[in-house]
Amino acid sequence: MSAAPLPNRVNIRKAVIRCAKYSGCLGSEHLPQLAAFLDPANPIVEISVEFGENEEGRQFAAVDMEARVVLECQRCLQPVHCKLKTSSRLGLVPDDEQALQLPAGLEPLIAVDEVDLWELAGEELALALPVVAYHPEGECEPPKSDRPDRSDNEERDSTEQASENPFSVLSALLDSGDTKEK
Ligand SMILES: [Zn+2]
Repeated sequence: MSAAPLPNRVNIRKAVIRCAKYSGCLGSEHLPQLAAFLDPANPIVEISVEFGENEEGRQFAAVDMEARVVLECQRCLQPVHCKLKTSSRLGLVPDDEQALQLPAGLEPLIAVDEVDLWELAGEELALALPVVAYHPEGECEPPKSDRPDRSDNEERDSTEQASENPFSVLSALLDSGDTKEK
């Protein structure tokens, strides 16, 4: 079955009745919150959305997306290209109260009458962006620091130890004992 091109706004009731299926590509101009992350060589998101009603009569939208993003490797600080694939099943509910009633496996999408597919794509993909990214193990190394390492780590360790000095804890306990006696 071929899918209709991806529209911007969709009427939920009609889409659910027809089990409508849409698919298409969105460019970075439609996804301002992701424009900075999309691979400049191919700044698009492929998206397909299928509406329906499950056996419990709950309206849902099944959303699948694929995009190429560029993030900063947390080891070498160079760009790392990642392929992002998301697949989510969203329960269409009009308010927070009904969102709480959704069974596990359906994430709430709060929408009344209409759903904005472009906005939905941007939000879902932003959630799917990895918090940290790395090149595969062994393929890169941390950048060489300009100044020689002045044992920053050791300094930090010793300050941590000072704050957890057992004697300071003990004296705090003794102090509180004193105040009780008064
Ligand atoms: Zn790297």
